[in-house]
Amino acid sequence: MSVQHDLHSHSTASDGSLRPSELVRLAKLRNIDVLALTDHDNIDGIREAWFEAAKVGLQLVAGAEISVSWGRSKTIHIVGLNLDIDNPILLKGLQRLCEFRQWRSEEIGLRLAKKGIEGALAGARTFARGNIIGRVHFARFLIEQGYAKDMKQVFKRYLVQGKPGYVPGDWATLEEALDWIHNAGGQAVIAHPARYRLSATRLRQLLGEFQDLGGSVLEVVSGSHSRDEIQRMAQLCSDCGLLASAGSDYHGPENPYMDMGKLPRMPANCMPVWESSAWIASRKTQAAITPNSLPLAL
Ligand code: AMP
Ligand code: MN
Ligand code: MN
Ligand code: MN
Repeated sequence: MSVQHDLHSHSTASDGSLRPSELVRLAKLRNIDVLALTDHDNIDGIREAWFEAAKVGLQLVAGAEISVSWGRSKTIHIVGLNLDIDNPILLKGLQRLCEFRQWRSEEIGLRLAKKGIEGALAGARTFARGNIIGRVHFARFLIEQGYAKDMKQVFKRYLVQGKPGYVPGDWATLEEALDWIHNAGGQAVIAHPARYRLSATRLRQLLGEFQDLGGSVLEVVSGSHSRDEIQRMAQLCSDCGLLASAGSDYHGPENPYMDMGKLPRMPANCMPVWESSAWIASRKTQAAITPNSLPLAL
């Protein structure tokens, strides 16, 4: 059997619903050999996941999914893999994004209150359990209160651009995100490229800028890509000379994308990032690192 990689997943450290240790145990059960924990804009779950991975015999890749503002109004996600989670430049950058998230959550609360929805910030905070707040936490509150029946509906009604609970992002620039990732010794990946609704020209432009900044990986196989999109992204990846990544973007059992352990195969025309020399060198460096403190309580 070949080695199974899932290089994109979320825990309760951001908007996933399983604790890092639970996520690692599930991945092991589903025969994943190499799992990247890539929570939004933070690495707070990594130590707990790392300890659990060592216990159950799974390779944990320390990652993060960084929110980036690109062009006039797009939010793009850049996954960093094999990160040195003690790197001060990375930590300072992520800290800034978490401060923006804090401000944004207050703003979302105020905007929903203006529409007659009281207590949304407190509700979202309860779902976030002390971790950073994302739109998914507001979504869970709104569903609980009966404003929508499921995740898809609640985003469409309240949380996407043009709706009351959407606050435009002031995230990292593409250059900053790549700088943080590269400083921390990691590989930068454009996450779920088919999800941004960019024209072919704009997507090529994004890839061009990304490559000029030293980015080298495209997430070809994603839990949020259709079979068709995987084929299209594979072609683009190979045309541009990028490496390919694969990740479920798993958020927990009620995830709208895909269950853990169900990722389609990497298309044959792509070179998987895990076969690259940069990846192999990073894995060696990572193997030599011992997490320097106890797991953080989440
Ligand atoms: P945030 O980073 O807080 O703005 O939230 C982004 C997250 O919201 C994504 O990572 C997904 O987990 C979730 N999300 C975004 N759009 C949708 C959607 N249409 N349906 C369900 N979940 C979504
Ligand atoms: Mn998410
Ligand atoms: Mn994403
Ligand atoms: Mn994600």
